[in-house]
Amino acid sequence: MNKILPLLILLTFIFSSQSFSQELKSFNSQKDKVEYNLKTKGELYFKFTINSKDRINELGRHISIDNVIDKIIFFEVYAYASAKEMDYFAAQNIDFALLKHPGDGNEKMSDNIKEIMAWDVYPTYPAYVTMMNNFAANYPNQCRIVNIGSTVQGRQLLFAVISDSVNTRKPKPRLMYSSSMHGDETTGYVLMLRLIDTLLSGNGNNQRITELVKNCEIWICPLANPDGTYHGGDNSVNNAWRYNANGIDPNRNFPGPVAGQHPDGNAWTIETIASMNQFAQYNFTLSMNFHGGSEVFNYPWDHKAALHPDDAWFIHAGKRWLDTVHAVAPSYMVDNLGYPNIPGLVNGFAWYIVPGGRQDYMTFFNGGREVTLEISSTKLVPASQLPTFWARNFKSFINYLNESLYGVRGIVRDSVTGAPLKSKVYVSGQNDTTWIYSDSICGDYHRLIAPGTYSFTFKAPNYYPKTISGIRAAYDSTTYQDVYLRPITTSAGNENLTVKNFKLYQNYPNPFNPETDIKFDVRENSEVSIIIYDVTGKEITNLANGNYKQGSYSIKWDASKYPSGVYFYKFTAGNYSEVRKMMFLK
Ligand SMILES: [Zn+2]
Repeated sequence: MNKILPLLILLTFIFSSQSFSQELKSFNSQKDKVEYNLKTKGELYFKFTINSKDRINELGRHISIDNVIDKIIFFEVYAYASAKEMDYFAAQNIDFALLKHPGDGNEKMSDNIKEIMAWDVYPTYPAYVTMMNNFAANYPNQCRIVNIGSTVQGRQLLFAVISDSVNTRKPKPRLMYSSSMHGDETTGYVLMLRLIDTLLSGNGNNQRITELVKNCEIWICPLANPDGTYHGGDNSVNNAWRYNANGIDPNRNFPGPVAGQHPDGNAWTIETIASMNQFAQYNFTLSMNFHGGSEVFNYPWDHKAALHPDDAWFIHAGKRWLDTVHAVAPSYMVDNLGYPNIPGLVNGFAWYIVPGGRQDYMTFFNGGREVTLEISSTKLVPASQLPTFWARNFKSFINYLNESLYGVRGIVRDSVTGAPLKSKVYVSGQNDTTWIYSDSICGDYHRLIAPGTYSFTFKAPNYYPKTISGIRAAYDSTTYQDVYLRPITTSAGNENLTVKNFKLYQNYPNPFNPETDIKFDVRENSEVSIIIYDVTGKEITNLANGNYKQGSYSIKWDASKYPSGVYFYKFTAGNYSEVRKMMFLK
């Protein structure tokens, strides 16, 4: 028996895994290395070349494509895969080269808050949580910490909320910065911690910051995938990986406008569900998602070729970011990756398709405006370089938040009671999903838009819609347009009016706690059901089950025995069915 041989094989694997050949090889010729890397790391980082963009887009539904570089006669593609995803890729017979995992670093760590606040070192996870809680403790009137949920491994998804009225909802744009949902893309993590500190300590001292804290409600999540970043344990980011703890790419796991509820073929992770609940509960005007691996300002759409109707506005915001950055660092963020052919700026689809990404989920389904900032070519940036990236981007962090104060804004109210209303705000002539919401508590809406003269239509359930024309907008200026919507009165005897259609109405109130009314119309005698589903699609209860005569009905749902979150309710009457979403908030 030769006991040396297995040891030699093991050593060969270890050394070969350190010398990452750039040569593209077949799957079979490097099967052992693939298995070794999957066993030790859990996810693979690799590159390959291909000459069809359609083929890249198809592959992107099965593995996580991270970067696509146009080499004129072919594309160089960088990607990640879990073991399951590698099974698919192996069957494609594409030669590839395994690469050093970007999260394999040797960066300086610290658990000393004072040392961390020199901003050139990575914090341990416990130090990070302490710092976040310290912000709220030190600035109780300007900062509170919101934990939107726990991760697979029980870490926290924390936001610092910053505003001069942080404990009361006021009619202000609500903004969001979130970083490192890919756990090995860590630059934005430390920069966002530093931004929280800068906004809080600058409030009252720096005029621009004071104005922002006064006029906006700013939500900052420095670490959106802590299990990925601390894959190597709470004390180090040096074994960070991309995916969540269950091997799922968080930025491919959201519902897609075209690809359906599960574009990646996986159930929503608990981190995705926490985000979806947060977005449904809070109405965000503008947001940004920080990544790494490239240096580019990427804007919607990621999922389809058609330009977003607000393309001009996105280009305006992106150019402003880049012009400010280039004044400090002329050779940073200068790649031209496609339309609109402005160095450092790219339309998502022109670069490569991202199915199930958060940017389009936020922008398409939640009335938001989200862009993706790829902040550094190196993912796990050397800690000593963090101050350089801060110096390049700090002014743009401020400018981008400030954009939310321009455009068209106002408050939507009930014309009888004056109560603020949640409504949908549409811009006439935009033949795509670009509506935004007015806030459910204060009724305020904030429509960022390119210069022009517009017609806006405001719609709310149980109100007559209203269109206002001749609304003028310009960059760096604010147009105020308040709106009163007239309720559709339900006089006595209304139930005798002829019901002409089947219809399911938005529940009221919404969000609710713990009871809400669900109204529906039945056109003709039908078998009716109203089924409630939780956010995972599991049936919770059936509120109506039986034959209903023509008429208008209202059914109450008491959710007190269920957890807070998003629920769906489906109305079926004969062949007709309609689904709506509601929010239970304890
Ligand atoms: Zn990323």
